[in-house]
Amino acid sequence: MLCEMPQHGTDWPTLKAAMIERGSGDAKWREGKTAVYVFNAGEDVAAVQKKAYTLYMSENGLGPLAFPSLKTMEDEVIGMGLKILHAPPDAKGTMTSGGTDSITMAVKAARDYACAERGLSGPLNIVAPYSAHPAFDKAAKLMELEIRRVSVGPDLLADSTAMAAACDKQTFMLVGSAPSFPYGLIDHISQLSGLALDRNIWLHVDACVGGYIAPFVRMNGGDIAPFDFELPGVMSMSADLHKYGYCAKGASTVLFRDAALHEHMVFDCSDWPGGRMITPTLAGTRPGGAISAAWAVMNYLGVEGYREKHRQVTDAREAIEAGVSELGFEILGSPQLGIVAFTHRELDIFATYRNMYQKGWFTSLTTQPRALHLMLSPFHIQVTDVYLRDLQKSLVKADDTAQDNDFEARYS
Ligand SMILES: *Cc1c(COP(=O)(O)O)cnc(C)c1O
Repeated sequence: MLCEMPQHGTDWPTLKAAMIERGSGDAKWREGKTAVYVFNAGEDVAAVQKKAYTLYMSENGLGPLAFPSLKTMEDEVIGMGLKILHAPPDAKGTMTSGGTDSITMAVKAARDYACAERGLSGPLNIVAPYSAHPAFDKAAKLMELEIRRVSVGPDLLADSTAMAAACDKQTFMLVGSAPSFPYGLIDHISQLSGLALDRNIWLHVDACVGGYIAPFVRMNGGDIAPFDFELPGVMSMSADLHKYGYCAKGASTVLFRDAALHEHMVFDCSDWPGGRMITPTLAGTRPGGAISAAWAVMNYLGVEGYREKHRQVTDAREAIEAGVSELGFEILGSPQLGIVAFTHRELDIFATYRNMYQKGWFTSLTTQPRALHLMLSPFHIQVTDVYLRDLQKSLVKADDTAQDNDFEARYS
């Protein structure tokens, strides 16, 4: 699509009105009717995000010498992430633009580590559960690596025995999710950690959607099994601040067990006329606002604030679980965090989803098995009744002859 740039500029009030008007057709997340893409932790958190973001919106995380402010804020954000995920004192991490970025950089570090420290060469592969995020496939594609997706067990968790069988001497990374996005369930990371140590393979735990909620749910009394650096086989983790960290978008963390592992991620180049340039991640310019907003939100909420917000999330999830069970749905596994998926033997799930969409709900789905999927925010505690009432009115009986097969991915 080509678009003519206007000859004359337009004043801001006019533009602002036009932009707000454009949003009128968007998902109604402010009313709580969206359970994917957006995390709504309340207006106070949103205000802190916005103000803190704009304070450093023009500064650039590429230049730590020019902006020691951003450097200290990033160091503290990373330090807090490492600490709550039980990293040892020599651990090191970096802020990235998001989960995909964090995963890509962890794969790069693990690949370079395997080549430099284990002497691997030639075609290398990653062994991951079928439930792992497509970011691993993207990273594999970029770096010409093979990804071996291994079926999950009947419990929908990574099957460490099958994953062990899929490993060979060219395997440089094992993946576990805490939790996986589709099912919201935390893989048996301790089993994967054992396998990783046994075979001397790097284990990455993808805690993009769990890293900043699971530790607090545990503090709230949740029975969360060890999933982080507490387990000795875990070499790196990805944990997104812009998900359950309730920070502004464009903020994730990639964390390494020690500084030597982190060193394999960093790119150092001086072979050009601009002088030596050291960049930890794929990015050159890094938005200062994403760093300052993350620092501000973490300090605004603190441990108590996160515990309270996450309590609302798990309360909402439990209310939804109880309500959908009454409607005959079956919960997939035993979710402990903010994601829940539920299936139904007698319903056409996709047709039911579409009816909910007509009622203004923008949520998600899984395909194996077909299930409705919610990623809940603190705000949802206020609308669980509305959701359940609308769902009851949206149920569509499955008709074996006319199963709805034309569901299209919404991520295109
Ligand atoms: C969201 C998510 C990612 C990718 O993160 P982005 O910030 O969307 O790039 C990776 N893994 C899991 C488990 C996720 O939930």
